[in-house]
Amino acid sequence: MGIIHLLDQQTANSIAAGEVVERPSSVVKELVENALDAGATTITVEIAGGGILSIAVIDNGRGMASEDTLMAFSRHATSKIIRIEDLDTIGTLGFRGEALASIAAVAKVTLRSRQQGTAMGDEVRIEGGQLMHQGPAGCPEGTSIQVEQLFFNTPARFKFLKKDSTEAAAIAETVERLILSRPDVSFRLLTNGQELLHSPGNNDLLSAIYAVYGRKQAAACIPISGQSSPLQISGYIARPEGAKNNRSGQTVLVNGRWIRSRTVTAAIDEAYKSRLMKGRFAFTAIRIDLPPELVDVNVHPQKLEVRFWKDGEVFSAVYQTIVSALNDHAGILPSDSAENEDSREAPPVVVTKIVKDENLSVSDRTGSEYARNTFNEPDKQSLEYHNYVRPYEHHDGTIPIEFSSSESSLPIKEPVAAPQQVREQIELHNVNHSAALMKASELVEARLIGTLFNTYIMLELGDELIMVDQHAAHEKIIYERLRDAYRDAKHRRTQPLLIPMTLTVAPSELILLEAEQAFFEAIGFTLEPFGSNALIIRTIPDLQSARIDPESALRAALQSLIKAHPADHQAVNELLYQVACKAAVKAHDHLSALEIHQLIADLAPLENPYTCPHGRPVIIRMPRLELEKKFKRVL
Ligand code: ADP
Ligand code: MG
Repeated sequence: MGIIHLLDQQTANSIAAGEVVERPSSVVKELVENALDAGATTITVEIAGGGILSIAVIDNGRGMASEDTLMAFSRHATSKIIRIEDLDTIGTLGFRGEALASIAAVAKVTLRSRQQGTAMGDEVRIEGGQLMHQGPAGCPEGTSIQVEQLFFNTPARFKFLKKDSTEAAAIAETVERLILSRPDVSFRLLTNGQELLHSPGNNDLLSAIYAVYGRKQAAACIPISGQSSPLQISGYIARPEGAKNNRSGQTVLVNGRWIRSRTVTAAIDEAYKSRLMKGRFAFTAIRIDLPPELVDVNVHPQKLEVRFWKDGEVFSAVYQTIVSALNDHAGILPSDSAENEDSREAPPVVVTKIVKDENLSVSDRTGSEYARNTFNEPDKQSLEYHNYVRPYEHHDGTIPIEFSSSESSLPIKEPVAAPQQVREQIELHNVNHSAALMKASELVEARLIGTLFNTYIMLELGDELIMVDQHAAHEKIIYERLRDAYRDAKHRRTQPLLIPMTLTVAPSELILLEAEQAFFEAIGFTLEPFGSNALIIRTIPDLQSARIDPESALRAALQSLIKAHPADHQAVNELLYQVACKAAVKAHDHLSALEIHQLIADLAPLENPYTCPHGRPVIIRMPRLELEKKFKRVL
């Protein structure tokens, strides 16, 4: 007798739910995406108990016809595509018709919906896939869905849920991503009755960034824009000072969808590479728009990844756009920027303070951080459905459904700051910043004060004290000149040695050097083996005013070559940098005034004179005001 049979619908739906509904935040994502697909402009998400106990999503979208409310819960029931080809031109976030069926299979769901322009709405209640109730209902236009007791009938899945505050934080993060991807929609997130996020929906990405990350982060942003047909790149990135300790500040939107992309992440990292210290990550909100047929959105169960038609094109478009924006906005770092970096990641203010202090808005913290750190919700173990007395429970064991969108007891506050005001504030800050932006080229005008500790060149320019790390500066000049020579033969200049130098090396090193002849020639060294343990240097790179120590440079190159082959771009960069570092003047070398002027003149026209290839600052400045504060001349 055969043993294969078709699964019943409830079992099939529960299995499918495993893919779509991983945790409360995935429910929020699916429901909000549905609201967006229904054209909503205002979406409220209200959760209790980390979303495990209850999630309500209320929208003002077009609503559903009463014939559709039940149908919406069937598996593979969708209004968004008809056949597979439609996926090539998909304009909606959903398309699989799985979400509602999956959610209803593992929770208790109440849907109320009223189509725009109709008199009456419809209500459907489904518990664990079983229809409990359907009938007309008085409700506002739009749709509200409440999902309660997630995984009440799948204890194994329930056990994998994290603490309420962790689940709440994941939900906040989901809503943050939605806010960033749809600045034209006003989102509100309430958790246990408290407003955590509220975006203005004024179709301005910068205001959305403000709503999610707060004022300081928004103020560190610069706009980006680039075109490389068929790609359009836009959005905002933070100057290097606005970097974070992790990738949580990296938003990538492809055709309005928040996604993760290795290609784009790599392009971001590469563009910021010499501007950030190790362990720091760029803050970005990048929009990539391209014709829908050039991107496959159906490659991930939660639609968090996409496949581009050509990764290389996307990489270089993103890279170029970021680099050019960073170059435009690069300047001498203020001396306190290092401290700012750390205070930015300080622990969040406590909840009581936020509630009491009118001036301290939730938006000074990001919602997800805030949720993770400040909610003293009961742990979900205490919500275990078997023994937990639910606060909302009636005597008869049913839970009254109360959506708070229209009949809310909470007054709806305006988003944290009036949108226009937000923009103006931020623009003002950016204008101030660019006025205050000091370019290295201005330094040729500066007055030389002297050298401090034989290490830092001190200059006075306008109302600023400028300090240049002489070793870092020299290193950067040599690095860029060597790199230019390596990239393009027309920048290559060699200098013959009147008396060729002989260098003693180990036979193994000699083999290495011979194998990499091409590299050394590209940067200007002409080397010849001399016996089995020596070589002759006939020419060295001519770096004009920047003199180098050829022996140290070669020994440094050898050291690097032993570790890595200059086959890839990364390794060549590091190799050039090692050579530059060893060939440059040491920190404690005494430089004459003439040499200092030459160094500053050489530094000024570099592509990036501000940071070394590892992201450490080369030049910093301290405004007069800061000194005056230290001397208490001003307070
Ligand atoms: P999908 O979004 O992939 O189509 P879902 O299971 O998420 O699948 O939803 C099924 C259908 O229910 C949708 O295609 C849509 O027609 C309808 N629907 C779901 N949520 C809403 C909503 N908030 N407003 C209007 N219609 C909705
Ligand atoms: Mg959907």
